[in-house]
Amino acid sequence: MDSRKSRCWASDLGGCDSMSGEHIISNAVFRHGCSCPLIVKGVSRIRMGEPTYGAEKSNILCRQHNSMLSPLDSTVGKLAKFQSDACDESFNETLYLEGELLERWILKTVVNSGVAGWTGSTKFRPSAEVVKAIFGITPLPERIGLYIVEGVDPNLRPSGGVSFFPIHLLANREMLLAGAYVSVHGMTFLGAFHDDLASILEGGAVPDLMNRFSSKGLKHIFRPGCLFMERKRGEALYVGLSWNGFLRFSDGTKAPFPRKKCES
Ligand SMILES: [Zn+2]
Repeated sequence: MDSRKSRCWASDLGGCDSMSGEHIISNAVFRHGCSCPLIVKGVSRIRMGEPTYGAEKSNILCRQHNSMLSPLDSTVGKLAKFQSDACDESFNETLYLEGELLERWILKTVVNSGVAGWTGSTKFRPSAEVVKAIFGITPLPERIGLYIVEGVDPNLRPSGGVSFFPIHLLANREMLLAGAYVSVHGMTFLGAFHDDLASILEGGAVPDLMNRFSSKGLKHIFRPGCLFMERKRGEALYVGLSWNGFLRFSDGTKAPFPRKKCES
């Protein structure tokens, strides 16, 4: 096997071609908004935790597998554009996204960071189950995947940006990457590879996290149906997330998503 090809973290799926120079964090996150500097914080290999500028690239996925994940990048791009539009207080729309695509983007970003060596000295290799789930081939087990975190990321700057906070757990005498907090312009998600990660963290396994996002403590919601966005000016906005093809509303009703076009 060509060693150039085997560097793709999705090589277990087969069909690799040449390496792509994947953006570790989708460029789409940074494309919208206020000419913000491209800031990624919380990357361990950067001395003193100083921010890095630019959506860095790394040869971690082949072109074929990179392009198969482009719907994930466009999903987070829609979220970033919505967050940018929300700076205008007269903007009052609602964004609807497919939850699974956002979930797969978060997990892909955590895997990219781990494989690129951002999360520690040992490079991470995702399990076959995680790889298949990121490519939408198999569903994720319950409680593995996307959580929203209550509160605001302390690294949030007015200009926006992404921050990254990896979580390692000790297993078989090894520190393994169990997931990471990924904040997109201040909105914080946890991407979890383990079904008990959120409850372990809520139980105080990482004391620094207990009041990192909120003075009320650490709270995660698995696969939220709705992401609230408080604004300094203007009413709160929200992003509706569909799961299994349905949007759920607070009055108990649900609606199919995406809405089917008329079949006439
Ligand atoms: Zn590949």
